[in-house]
Amino acid sequence: MVIQEIRTIVTCPGRNYVLVKVVTDEGLYGVGEGTLNGSELAVAAAIEQASGLLIGRDPAQIEDIWQLMYHWTYWRGGPVFAAAIGAIDIALWDIKAKQAGMPLYQLFGGKVREGVLCYEHADGGDPVEVEDSVRSYLEKGFKVVRAQMGPYGGPGMVRHEPPMREGIPGTSFFDPAPYLTSTPKLFGHLRSKLGDLVELCHDVHEQLTPTEAAWLAKALEPFRLFFLEDPLRPEYKESFRRVREASTTKLAMGELFTSRWDCLPLFQNQWIDYIRFAPMHVGGITEARKICAMAEPFEVKTAHHGAGDLGPIAQAASVHLDMTIPNFGVLEWVDFPSAAYEVMPGACVCRDGYAHPHERPGIGVDIDEALAKKFPYQRAFMPIVRKTDGSMHVY
Ligand code: MG
Repeated sequence: MVIQEIRTIVTCPGRNYVLVKVVTDEGLYGVGEGTLNGSELAVAAAIEQASGLLIGRDPAQIEDIWQLMYHWTYWRGGPVFAAAIGAIDIALWDIKAKQAGMPLYQLFGGKVREGVLCYEHADGGDPVEVEDSVRSYLEKGFKVVRAQMGPYGGPGMVRHEPPMREGIPGTSFFDPAPYLTSTPKLFGHLRSKLGDLVELCHDVHEQLTPTEAAWLAKALEPFRLFFLEDPLRPEYKESFRRVREASTTKLAMGELFTSRWDCLPLFQNQWIDYIRFAPMHVGGITEARKICAMAEPFEVKTAHHGAGDLGPIAQAASVHLDMTIPNFGVLEWVDFPSAAYEVMPGACVCRDGYAHPHERPGIGVDIDEALAKKFPYQRAFMPIVRKTDGSMHVY
């Protein structure tokens, strides 16, 4: 069996997704995903370019193909290449599991747990609204809930300007002071109303300086967070020492990490408790399994990224992996736009706060290519955030 064709599908059933179908000469195919918000076309181009190197190769040689794709560019690394490798790698694992006639998780040693614990996103304009939102997820069975005032920075986003022209995002202006002072008050309110045992986390969205992040982690310490998510920019790894030493608030980091080398210093120094990369964004399942194993002896658990930055195939890759690794922690869970479930039928389901993979051979998700064509790519960018003086924020 050899790889005959690699089809890249960029589709927007509610939001943009980068999908691949790796087709073999025997008709068997695998599906993968390399969605990278705001850079979808760059990933699609990287997959197209790599395809020329992969046609005619044995799809069973997943490790060798991973090494080839990582090293052939010479200018290796970075989110675009990592997502392109990730898309093809997931598709190759799908082929292998279909060949074996087993659900993908069986190839990683089988289940070690009954389901994958998930956390959902609660938000609102004030603490009472956030409390109501948290309660709505608890009623749905979620055991862990992320609590935010506003989706990005909440009270810290002090004003918004409309886009300079149609088709590009508007600009938000961030002031850390109202964000820093309101966030501990939010968790004080939630603890007083919901009690001490509800598991709550909070996402900083990489918006703080090391000193600000250390201040916030310390201020939140009395409220026993499940974790504080992405407190610093991904470039500031050494600064985790400062945040770590400021408090015992558990720290999660890494939804923007794209390689094992991003993760390693945080593991070796035990500066974090949870690692957040999505398997798709570090080069797929092959590399994700290795990074998870690297994390294990340092008592770092996983909290794979699962927000709107990825779709049902990338999510299924996380769920299959999370069923099998001893140091799984929690999975970020967000429902997709309804049309995405039709374009990618077979998405994993979440029941009572736990995700479950399907038992079909392979990853369990498919791509309806004809339907995908009805949802063409829509130009989209990530939000623009500036400081209150108008200069760019390091978001
Ligand atoms: Mg996040």
